Amino acid sequence: MGIRTLITFLCFFALGSCAGQSGGDLSSTPQVRKDLGPQGQLVAKTLFGAKRNGSRQAAAAYGSYANGCAAGLVQLPETGPTWQAMRLSRNRNWGHPETVDFVQDLSRAAVRQGWAGLYVGDMSQPRGGPMLTGHRSHQIGLDADIWMNPAQDMTLNRTQRENISAISMRRSNGAFVNSSWTRGHHEVLKAAASDKRVARIFVFPGAKVQMCKDAKGDRSWLRKIRPWWGHHYHFHVRLACPKGARGCVDQAAPPAGDGCADAQQWVNNILNPPPPDPNAPAAKPRRELRLADLPTQCVGVLQSD
Ligand SMILES: [Zn+2]
Repeated sequence: MGIRTLITFLCFFALGSCAGQSGGDLSSTPQVRKDLGPQGQLVAKTLFGAKRNGSRQAAAAYGSYANGCAAGLVQLPETGPTWQAMRLSRNRNWGHPETVDFVQDLSRAAVRQGWAGLYVGDMSQPRGGPMLTGHRSHQIGLDADIWMNPAQDMTLNRTQRENISAISMRRSNGAFVNSSWTRGHHEVLKAAASDKRVARIFVFPGAKVQMCKDAKGDRSWLRKIRPWWGHHYHFHVRLACPKGARGCVDQAAPPAGDGCADAQQWVNNILNPPPPDPNAPAAKPRRELRLADLPTQCVGVLQSD
C-alpha cells in the first residue's frame, strides 16, 4: 500500500479527524506495536475526540482510567427528574451503563438532602479514550464529575448549562471549606462513598478534613474519599470495574483506614509548603498517547459502528 493510500485509509478510519494529526508531541520516541503499523502512531485523543456516538457493542471498559477506552457506552439523558447534564457542547455525558445508573441513584440521594438533584459535569466521551482537552482519566466510562452546586433548577436550557458557573467550596487554597459548604455536601459525598460500585472519590483536602471532623459513628466510608488537587468546583466519582469485566484494570485500593491523617498532612503542606527537594527528578514531559499505547480492544471500539 502506498503512503498516500495509507493516509487516505487512515483518514477514513478516523472519520475526518486528520486535521489534528500533526498536533502530537513528535520529540519522543514512539512505541511501535507492529500489528498496528503506522496507524498505531495516530494520536489517540484525536481519534476518540472525533467520535460522536457510542459503539454498537456490549458495554465494556478496556484498560485503566487514564489509558483505555470503552465499548457500548450510553448517554446520561440530558435531563432527568433529579439531574441535569451540564456543558452539553462537550458531549461528555457518556458512561458505562453502571455509571449512568449510579449517577441517577446519587441524584436521588441529593434530593433527600433538600437539593432538587445534581448538576453532572464531565463523564466520558462516547467511546471513552483520551480527551482533546482537560482530564487525563475519564477514559473507560467509569468516572463522573459532580458539581458542588446544591442544584435547585432542573429546567435549565442548553445556554444556561453552558454558562452557569460551578461553585467553589474552598478557601485558603483548599486547606479549608468555605461558607458554601453544607452538611448536605457531606451527606451527598457520604452517599457516594457508601455505594458498593464506587472505588474512590477525589475532593480537595480541606473538604476531606472537614468530613473527618463531622463524621459520626461508622467511618469506614471515609476511606474512599481521597484528597486531591483541584476538585473544589466538583467532586470526582470513580467506579470500580464492573463485576466480571474482562480487560478492565482496577486501581489499587486506597490504603486501609479512614485516611484522615493523610488528608490533614495535605492541609499542613498547603499551609506550610515543605521546601522543594533538591534531589527530586525533573518532571518528564508527558508523551501523547498513541493508538498503539491503548489496549488492543480500542481499535475495535473505534472501528465499530
Ligand atoms: Zn474528574
